[in-house]
Amino acid sequence: MAPTSWGRRRVLLLNATYEPLTALPLRRAVVLVMCGKADVVHGDPAGLTLHAATVSLPVPSVIRLSTYVRVPYRAQVPLTRAGLMHRDRYRCAYCGGRADTIDHVIPRSRSGPHSWQNCVACCAKCNHRKADRLLSELGWHLRVVPTAPHGPHWRLLVHSGEADPLWRPYLGVAA
Ligand SMILES: [Zn+2]
Repeated sequence: MAPTSWGRRRVLLLNATYEPLTALPLRRAVVLVMCGKADVVHGDPAGLTLHAATVSLPVPSVIRLSTYVRVPYRAQVPLTRAGLMHRDRYRCAYCGGRADTIDHVIPRSRSGPHSWQNCVACCAKCNHRKADRLLSELGWHLRVVPTAPHGPHWRLLVHSGEADPLWRPYLGVAA
């Protein structure tokens, strides 16, 4: 694997307890493994290998810290498109069809906030039909009341739209 292709690749870092912590650039993940601070849990599915001066190492996809680190609790998970689509499982909040966009339940034009509680995944058809109206004006109902997600794995999901399939068991996401 050429060092030039390292740039965009991310590696899932797990705590010693297998809790997901963050997605690291490959370069930093390799340094942790080389220093003995982390072990490779899953290597690259294609079996790619890194060759440094004196060692060769399988390209990691998931690594785990050898020593437990305490993580400060942060209450608010940032709202992102990727995170919202994961929360709603790519299903339209109104008809249950495949979602392609994000809808503000109370439209922004009517002072609806851009929040987890007011944003839902939505199909293009429902989004177009709803336009700037309130649910009460349409006689529509939400299939599920939108809430803000909690838990450490959400910090990862909101930043990694299409996570490596090898990460899924650690993120609590159905494969
Ligand atoms: Zn729909």
